[in-house]
Amino acid sequence: MNDSVQIIRDFVVRHHYEKLHPVAALVDMDGTLYDSMRNHARAWSMMCAEAGLTVDYDEFFMYEGMTGAQTIDIIMQRCRGRHATAEECESLYHRKTELFTSLPAVEVMPGARELTSLMKEVGMRRVLVTGSGQSSLIGRLDSDFPGVFDSNLRVTSKDVAHGKPHPEPYIRAMQLARVTPSQAIAIENAPLGVKSAATSGAFTIGVVTGPVPRAELEGAGAAIVYDSMTECAEAFPTLLYNMLTYVP
Ligand code: MG
Repeated sequence: MNDSVQIIRDFVVRHHYEKLHPVAALVDMDGTLYDSMRNHARAWSMMCAEAGLTVDYDEFFMYEGMTGAQTIDIIMQRCRGRHATAEECESLYHRKTELFTSLPAVEVMPGARELTSLMKEVGMRRVLVTGSGQSSLIGRLDSDFPGVFDSNLRVTSKDVAHGKPHPEPYIRAMQLARVTPSQAIAIENAPLGVKSAATSGAFTIGVVTGPVPRAELEGAGAAIVYDSMTECAEAFPTLLYNMLTYVP
């Protein structure tokens, strides 16, 4: 059970903020809005098997949030003892993307529509913050989450020099939303994504939606962790109320 009043107090003190004024919600995509991580892990595993690279299926859940090139480089260093070339990064990521699109369609994460609708209803600015550059899911946002993510309020792998776990994607998102860290809430499901968001100074909500345990999200810097997006959506109004009414 999360005691959000105490968690908010600890967070504000730790960051030396005067108060929290949640104006913007910065939302991750894969594994947060879409139940897409099993397909991603499957596509990565299939691509690696084809290329003769030995990798565990579960490993890909820990790499989530990195750019494709970063993931390929880590695997190359371990399996071949050298960095991946730019050509390898491009061709292997292209093949992974092909395999991903050949898999059964990904579903919206249960609870994600409810949570993003709440954010919209209370007038928070919503910014998408994804390490992905794959158009197959980004292109579905307008039909799956109508009116939630303005096309000008999206940070993808194409918009940053450094992917997660670097804070750049979340800093960029705050610039787009014209907010400071104490005015931003981030929602993430993966350790590297949580680290990126937490380092940017945003109040970071970790959500367990796959095999990665909550301790990994707490260890990466999540201020609060929920065991599903549905639980997060149910708790969100109270969390927001406790933030707005917090006095030092
Ligand atoms: Mg994610």
